[in-house]
Amino acid sequence: MTNVQTKKIDALKDSLEGEVLVPGNAAYDDARKIWNAMIDKYPAIIARCASSSDVVHAVNFARDNDLLLAIRGGGHNIAGSALCDGGIVVDLSRMKATHVNAQTRQGSAEGGATLADFDAATQAHGLATPLGINSTTGVAGLTLGGGFGWLSRKYGMTVDNLESAEVVTAAGDIVRASATEQPDLFWALRGGGGNFGVVTRFDFRLHPVGPGVLSGLMVFPISEAKSVLLQYRDFAAKTPDELSVWAVLRKAPPLPFLPERTHGTEIVGLALLYVGDSAQGEALIAPMRKFGHLLGEHVGVQPYVNWQKAFDPLLSPGARNYWKSHNFSTLDDKLFDIVIEYAMKLPSSQCELFFGAVGGATERPAPDATAYIHRDARFVMNVHGRWDNPADDNRCVAWARDYFKASAPFATGGVYVNFLTAEEGDRVRSAYGKNFDRLASIKRQYDPGNLFRTNQNIGPAPH
Ligand SMILES: Cc1cc2nc3c(=O)[nH]c(=O)nc-3n(C[C@H](O)[C@H](O)[C@H](O)COP(=O)(O)OP(=O)(O)OC[C@H]3O[C@@H](n4cnc5c(N)ncnc54)[C@H](O)[C@@H]3O)c2cc1C
Repeated sequence: MTNVQTKKIDALKDSLEGEVLVPGNAAYDDARKIWNAMIDKYPAIIARCASSSDVVHAVNFARDNDLLLAIRGGGHNIAGSALCDGGIVVDLSRMKATHVNAQTRQGSAEGGATLADFDAATQAHGLATPLGINSTTGVAGLTLGGGFGWLSRKYGMTVDNLESAEVVTAAGDIVRASATEQPDLFWALRGGGGNFGVVTRFDFRLHPVGPGVLSGLMVFPISEAKSVLLQYRDFAAKTPDELSVWAVLRKAPPLPFLPERTHGTEIVGLALLYVGDSAQGEALIAPMRKFGHLLGEHVGVQPYVNWQKAFDPLLSPGARNYWKSHNFSTLDDKLFDIVIEYAMKLPSSQCELFFGAVGGATERPAPDATAYIHRDARFVMNVHGRWDNPADDNRCVAWARDYFKASAPFATGGVYVNFLTAEEGDRVRSAYGKNFDRLASIKRQYDPGNLFRTNQNIGPAPH
């Protein structure tokens, strides 16, 4: 707990338009809950900021009182970096405003907006920018790590669509970062995580999307997984950027379009979205139905915002979660044997192994165009360990780690920073590769005291 005197905390309360919570306040326990129930941290102060100027006060307070500081956007980070023990949380969950200019195809989101908030605002105009696949995720953390989802093959990483940002720096200044203003900071924000300041507003380029999009899920028996995955890989290599198909191996949830006998048994699923004319998309995906004996499918034109929420029930907050992740530029036949072996020993009904498809527009920028470097990745794999009972922690974590080790020889060695767990600080260099040194220099310029260190940390380069 902090030694900051009550008097000082009272002064902080007086200076904020938002609220300040400390242990003992009725709302405190709820405010320290985040998506991953494995994280149980007790901040001394939670500053629920209502404006950029609140953020300035909170940052100044942390720096001047030598307090550990964590930034909370959507609270989804697996590592629990949205919270800290004993320090101050700059909680942006009240700052969710969005704005869209349909004429110029630009949209902005405050630092606490979720994907659902921003998708709803942009889709009201038939526009969107690439975001992730779970609508309760924060726009902020997702964007700052790179960001990818169903639209990425067509329109790039989320950071490729970021045009500017408003940032509160460690010095407590409000600055704008773009290609022409603080360009180094702007480069670092596009993948460098929460290392460089508190982003209070993101400004994105938008694209015409839907509002109805061809999307859905096809499900095949696990006994045919090898053949389905081999065909999937060859098909994915040839698909136009408009089509994204992700593969997932897990136990079948009780979905109404699947026969009851399959519920709770292992399956391989192909989830897809086509951004463009749905008749063309339909023709393109037709061969996928022949990859094996379909157990069921639910594919059709639906509102993009609905598809963005389709996986929310499987990814609700409150479960225990442990992830391991690799990037792949190709999927080796032998990798599939390993995937299937581990899919046959899932330690809980909620665990899954998935391959998210990137490539297309995500591959085109140079690796040093943004801090996000993994332009060689075609697939981002996540071993998603998920369960409810703390008694299962060791078993589920061991399963994820064992699979991760077994699949490592086939991976690029790079990793998506947003999928790293708390214990993977040693992989931060792999997350940034050759961009790491430039990031460390920019860190020295904008945060020489490493105030923003409750994250996958990039320390300031030595003088
Ligand atoms: C269920 C689920 C599905 C996901 N799906 C995808 C996906 O499809 N694609 C994808 O790319 N990622 C995905 N992710 C990963 C996601 O991008 C990261 O978890 C990301 O960190 C979440 O951002 P957040 O704002 O919700 O998290 P938080 O935990 O609030 O923040 C994480 C970190 O980001 C930094 N940060 C947050 N807000 C700010 C801010 N305003 N200014 C400065 N720094 C800030 C801080 O360092 C903070 O510790 C998913 C995560 C989950 C849990």
